[in-house]
Amino acid sequence: MTTRSSVKSSELVTRTAAIAAEVAAKHAGDVDANSRFPHETFAALKQAKLLSAAIPKSHGGHGAGMLELGHQCAALAQGCGSSAMILAMHHIQVACIARHGRGTPYFDAYLRDRQQDLVASITSENGTFGDTRSSVCAVEVDGDRMKLVKDATTVSYGAHADAQLVTCRRAADAASSDQVLVLFERGQYTLEQTGTWDTLGMRGTCSPGAKFSGAGAASQIIPGSFADSSAQTMVPYSHVLWASLWWGIAADAIGRAAQFVRGEARKKPGTVPPQAVRLAKAHVELQAMRHNREAVAMELDELGDSRSELDGMGWALKLNQLKVAASELAPKLVHEALQIVGIMAYKNDSKFSVGRQYRDVLSASLMVSNERIAGKSASMLLVFKDD
Ligand SMILES: Cc1cc2nc3c(=O)[nH]c(=O)nc-3n(C[C@H](O)[C@H](O)[C@H](O)COP(=O)(O)OP(=O)(O)OC[C@H]3O[C@@H](n4cnc5c(N)ncnc54)[C@H](O)[C@@H]3O)c2cc1C
Repeated sequence: MTTRSSVKSSELVTRTAAIAAEVAAKHAGDVDANSRFPHETFAALKQAKLLSAAIPKSHGGHGAGMLELGHQCAALAQGCGSSAMILAMHHIQVACIARHGRGTPYFDAYLRDRQQDLVASITSENGTFGDTRSSVCAVEVDGDRMKLVKDATTVSYGAHADAQLVTCRRAADAASSDQVLVLFERGQYTLEQTGTWDTLGMRGTCSPGAKFSGAGAASQIIPGSFADSSAQTMVPYSHVLWASLWWGIAADAIGRAAQFVRGEARKKPGTVPPQAVRLAKAHVELQAMRHNREAVAMELDELGDSRSELDGMGWALKLNQLKVAASELAPKLVHEALQIVGIMAYKNDSKFSVGRQYRDVLSASLMVSNERIAGKSASMLLVFKDD
């Protein structure tokens, strides 16, 4: 029987945790310092065939549900936050392809044949101001061919990906919110970098602006509307997997604080170090944060293929609330770890350093602005009553 604890210790999660400890953590400092793609981690994940975690079993993948994918991202985040964010973004794109493209010859073949391809996302665009549900660019369909040009503000690991899933308007005369998702495979597009990625944190995601230009078969347009794939797949997967990896970053920092406090206790046997109380309080919030994301993940897994419920306000609010809660709590917990350890956490060259974790986790509230999300929730709460 699949239980909550068996998912947490599944082969997928334990193998990822091993890569986090043996590969990702080892290179995380260099990835961060040089703002470079975590090649070693993704080579290891590909070799262990872990990039196909979200591909359904019917198509040769692991068929992992939301809870298991969340644990996988949380495990990797404890070694390298950027690697976990890249893995999460990849799973989000694969899930959109699997849920909304499955059943068409092109996407069925893509899922079966390209299992370890790394898929990037291009939703951001100059002129849409952070609103993923509107596009300026439009796909041009001509018979069985299509082409697309997009001026994107932020494209994570675009230069290192094997494919790009891009949002755009359905046609030149479509409204800005009448969007579709289009998949482009390597060789079918160019990405001309238009900006830099010299950021506070999440430096390994390598996410500069880029001008995208691609062409392919019309069958590479995911059927249906992006409105559906956004509400039913992209938003739920994003908020649960991001919350999971932000938890992983916080858990890494609190783990360092715990290791420090245990060391202090060993210096004076029989006494409880003063920081231990603060550490105990931090664990309360770490547990609450974990239970929040696990509960939402399990509810989503219980829905199975009946996704229409996700179009409703109840789910939109629940997911918004998870995102806002996790993105506010994770930086607080890393800050707590810094206070508990003190100067040894502030130093970049100490084994208790939480500098990278702190900088990485500050991206959480910006990655879809919490203010933007709160604005949407506020409008919904004027009319929505929970039962
Ligand atoms: C690490 C990282 C990786 C990313 N990777 C990708 C990627 O791979 N692909 C991609 O497409 N995008 C990516 N993004 C972009 C991201 O998804 C957002 O589009 C982007 O962070 C939003 O940019 P913004 O803050 O300028 O926009 P906005 O959301 O417009 O926010 C700008 C300002 O306006 C305020 N604001 C906005 N709306 C409201 C409102 N309703 N009420 C009050 N205030 C409001 C915000 O608080 C903020 O101060 C990434 C971002 C990060 C941090």
